[in-house]
Amino acid sequence: MSAHVSHDRLIDLAAGLVAEPDAGTLLAHLRECGACEDRFRAICADLERSRLTSPRVSRRAVATWAAVAIAASLLGVVALSPLARRAAGTPEAYWLPVPSEAIDLRSIPQGGDGALFAEATESYRKQDASRVVKLLSGREIPESQDLLKLMLASALIKTGEPAAAQELLDALGIDTLPPPYRDRARWVRLAAWRAQSKRAEAEADACALAGEPGEFQEAAVRLCASRERR
Ligand SMILES: [Zn+2]
Repeated sequence: MSAHVSHDRLIDLAAGLVAEPDAGTLLAHLRECGACEDRFRAICADLERSRLTSPRVSRRAVATWAAVAIAASLLGVVALSPLARRAAGTPEAYWLPVPSEAIDLRSIPQGGDGALFAEATESYRKQDASRVVKLLSGREIPESQDLLKLMLASALIKTGEPAAAQELLDALGIDTLPPPYRDRARWVRLAAWRAQSKRAEAEADACALAGEPGEFQEAAVRLCASRERR
């Protein structure tokens, strides 16, 4: 077993100062090691507090925060409710983790749908799927808001509209998403396939997830029948 990550090293990681492949190695350790993950979370929380309390946010602080958000989302540690943590059981029971900075309001024109998108995000966080669908269905969602589209797709499955979810996920180009979101989108799509009794497609997604390390690997193995038989 490798040694724990030093405090300085965790701060560097949070600040985005660790380059690949070292960053990947550290993140892999954090995923396996609760003690280091807890310390990393505490550092992220400290950074967030200092960001909120500092009267002027420097450009560097913003860059730092962006790096923290990326590192934390790779770990899936941002704003993970205990519910979301437990839910990798079945694709149907899954709720996407929603980081506090999920909506990039700068990319939404003023007077646009920013408030509505923020409300939809909050509704999703509260696991109110019908509210999310009511707010977002049929609405133009900006190109940059992939997470919002994912939330809508997930909500559509929960409200019994898997075909509409499917369409949304197809348009998203799942394979081009960054890894944590790509896997989460596949897991959501798996629920859409299953709800439509599309077995071959469900099997393909399940086996893809089962075949590589990630937050769904364990749960996906159970759904990838051909792998189970091996
Ligand atoms: Zn450790």
